[in-house]
Amino acid sequence: MIRKPTLSPSKITTYLACPTKYALTYVDPRGRWYLKSKSYYSFGTTLHAVLQRFHDAGDTGVTTSHEAVAALEESWIDAGYSSQEEMMEAQAEGKAIVADYIEAVQREPVTAKTLFVEKSMRLDMGEFDLIGRIDRVDEREDGTLEIIDYKSGRQAVSESDVADDLAMACYQLMLRAAYPGREVVATIIALRSRSKATASLEDADALTEDLQAIGKEILHRDYENLAPTPKPLCHDCDFLAFCRKNQDFAEAYRPREASDA
Ligand code: SF4
Repeated sequence: MIRKPTLSPSKITTYLACPTKYALTYVDPRGRWYLKSKSYYSFGTTLHAVLQRFHDAGDTGVTTSHEAVAALEESWIDAGYSSQEEMMEAQAEGKAIVADYIEAVQREPVTAKTLFVEKSMRLDMGEFDLIGRIDRVDEREDGTLEIIDYKSGRQAVSESDVADDLAMACYQLMLRAAYPGREVVATIIALRSRSKATASLEDADALTEDLQAIGKEILHRDYENLAPTPKPLCHDCDFLAFCRKNQDFAEAYRPREASDA
């Protein structure tokens, strides 16, 4: 049986930012030679793993801030840090973040129960399946399903950040399809400050249409003859060395001035 192609919010976001980046990340195997480990991915993945264990009722190993700090040490991912000192600083910050988070959660009154952690979702979009993994789904006392997404890099989050986040919109679409008739909202928690904001998807039909159109474009694009074009994103992109081998790109690309950094 031929499996239907899948697209995730991160694939779609990458394509919308730069089709060449999408091709080098997901289509062209040469792209893997240029990819570098990123400390912020390692940091975020470690924090997510600890919070997943804390909110997973079936996991009794992380129920206190002390256990969370121990779990963070155990599951620490050290890829992408430029020095041991930088890594130790990040680890100390990570320990403080998870400890503060857990103590704050335990001080708050319980108004919801966690239904899932790391919930994989799939939604048939016609030519492709939309897939995604949700950090956590809570059920509030009034029956509303709340998607929770942790952001380890941000200091603050606003309602418009949540409303404009493609992944959060996709997760709401997928959860609504899985639980028809249930109220669904999405919340982002900025772990560094524990600030949070919530929004609800306004027009699911319009999003579905847009996703189907962009999905079709992604799946049928001619990536072999795609020419890279300079954009602000290029300055911090792993594939810059690859794209600079294209003569038109190299002539048009302007390196960032030190004052712009
Ligand atoms: S360097 Fe620029 S054009 Fe090339 S993949 Fe990265 S963002 Fe896209």
